[in-house]
Amino acid sequence: MINLRTATEMDTIAHAGSIIGKLFEEMPTHVQPGVSTAEIDRFAEDFIVGHDGATAAFKGLYGFPGSVCISVNEEVVHGIPSEHRILDQGDIVSIDVGVMMDGWYSDSARTFAVGEVKGVATTLMAVTEEALAASIEAAVPGNHVGDIGAAVMKAVDGTGYGIIRELVGHGVGRDLHEEPQVPNIGRVGHGPLLREGMVLAIEPMLSAGTPRIKTLEDGWTVITADRSLSAHFEHTVGITKDGPRILTSAEGPVGAATPASGAG
Ligand code: MG
Ligand code: MG
Repeated sequence: MINLRTATEMDTIAHAGSIIGKLFEEMPTHVQPGVSTAEIDRFAEDFIVGHDGATAAFKGLYGFPGSVCISVNEEVVHGIPSEHRILDQGDIVSIDVGVMMDGWYSDSARTFAVGEVKGVATTLMAVTEEALAASIEAAVPGNHVGDIGAAVMKAVDGTGYGIIRELVGHGVGRDLHEEPQVPNIGRVGHGPLLREGMVLAIEPMLSAGTPRIKTLEDGWTVITADRSLSAHFEHTVGITKDGPRILTSAEGPVGAATPASGAG
């Protein structure tokens, strides 16, 4: 079943999501050469729980050992924070964060550069972020889930980068992962109809090489099969009659792109 949310419920998700947006604004000063991913994880958890009623939603979820997922270079998603993983100049680091507040989830990810990055790392991050923006634009009532994946494909077309197909976006709400699945490939007009009130995590994941992935022996870390670089950008997005509403921006409910009609 695909859940539909009221504008007030979206406000609550946007409140939780704004903590992630603010956390990401702070991240560049912490994502630095010589810093361990465990240090970043501690900073993220402290930042989240410093907001009344907020918890790091990934901590312990399905048994995940960290507070947030931190995936370096060829790691696509679900990287486990570690004291032994020290960031180097030129690395790229995907940080995926869930915040739970008042029983509602929000989910967002960004890839950060460690110091100065160049070449493929820079363009891979830029194309992935553009693919997210383009796919969010497709998240309007009357479109279909396939339009979102089609927008990712169009944004990536001609770059030579791979779209990770085995991992998908998803509905977000009372659970972190709800229906529908939101693949990063698709055909315009195909898949479930997008309706006002749906809340979706849209999250293109790209690789600089093969789109094939494998999971490391730790049972969590997903890497590209050819160990090429990977980038990941994600927002939780509400489908509204006024257009897509990003629920994981730092501004929160007040500064959201569209007014919360009906919110009292
Ligand atoms: Mg996520
Ligand atoms: Mg997600």
